[in-house]
Amino acid sequence: MKKILLGLSDDELKLIAAEAGEKGYRGKQVADLVYRHGCKEVAAMSNLPAKFRSWLGQDYEVGRSQIVKTRRGKDMTFKVLLSPAFGDLIESVGMAYEDRFSCCVSTQVGCAIGCSFCATGAGGFKRNLAAGEIIDQVLTVGEVAVREKMLPPDGRVSHVVFMGMGEPLMNYDATLTAVKLLNSELNIGMRNITVSTIGYVPGIYRLAAEHLQLTLAISLHASEDALRRRLVPGMSRYSLKDLIEAGRHYFKETGRRVTFEYCLLMGVNDSQSEVARLAALLKGINCHVNLIPLNPVEGKNYKPPRADQAAEFRRVLEAADIPVTQREQRGAGIEAACGQLRRMQRQ
Ligand code: SF4
Repeated sequence: MKKILLGLSDDELKLIAAEAGEKGYRGKQVADLVYRHGCKEVAAMSNLPAKFRSWLGQDYEVGRSQIVKTRRGKDMTFKVLLSPAFGDLIESVGMAYEDRFSCCVSTQVGCAIGCSFCATGAGGFKRNLAAGEIIDQVLTVGEVAVREKMLPPDGRVSHVVFMGMGEPLMNYDATLTAVKLLNSELNIGMRNITVSTIGYVPGIYRLAAEHLQLTLAISLHASEDALRRRLVPGMSRYSLKDLIEAGRHYFKETGRRVTFEYCLLMGVNDSQSEVARLAALLKGINCHVNLIPLNPVEGKNYKPPRADQAAEFRRVLEAADIPVTQREQRGAGIEAACGQLRRMQRQ
């Protein structure tokens, strides 16, 4: 199997050029072609000398995915089912807003955590994605957005959220490499990148030590450990106290306010006592809470909260001086919303 160019830095590409007996700037040219000009095949790199092109093509390919299916929603959202460079199927989502275009990427094929309300977890874990396979999703979603006229011809993805299939911090090296390359090669501001974790505590400490300016989102989904263990069985070794302490540490190390995510499930975690406990847990922490009304998943018994319950939940947190937003439900109609992604071809 050939190695893939996507996921390699400028410096690594320069070393490859040197190995082929070429000047370093040829490596930079390759980076321009794969990251900024959407070049999909080594054979199409016509501005490289033929000798270098043929040398490169023997061991390397660009590493772009095949689009298996695109499904467009009514709310300026689409989902793409992709076959990535090393095989299998993954999903990525594009979302157009007035002031930005956001891409939600997957970091694993499937997921090992098995959250009880999530479609991805229900399918189990298959493999980690390579950094290049993560970057490819951003390039592909950008290209589809232009084709769908959701971005102008010279438009680009401005924000990336690591909230698709899988737990990014359990595929740490590829996630970190992808984050750095999205910033350096695709020019996506570090503050426009969000990594969302279900609460893998060692990964949070490791990420804090990188001192990056990205946004970290930690999913809580409960305010007491027994319920969290039931909803998020794959992370039961970490308590809510561990998670909140890790969030505090992240803020101390990076100066970036942590987002705590809370998926509201009717009659499960949306009660008065639940929100009172959550407010007490988060009191005095420099954080922000993002409430996510459940996106229903076929075969699961959970329901989204009533609008008045969600509003009351929010009111209690705000009364405790905790900044809160409620996530706009995007993509639910095409099963592209949070927790709804899976390797599904039937749409
Ligand atoms: S919610 Fe996230 S961590 Fe949980 S099973 Fe789904 S993809 Fe995995």
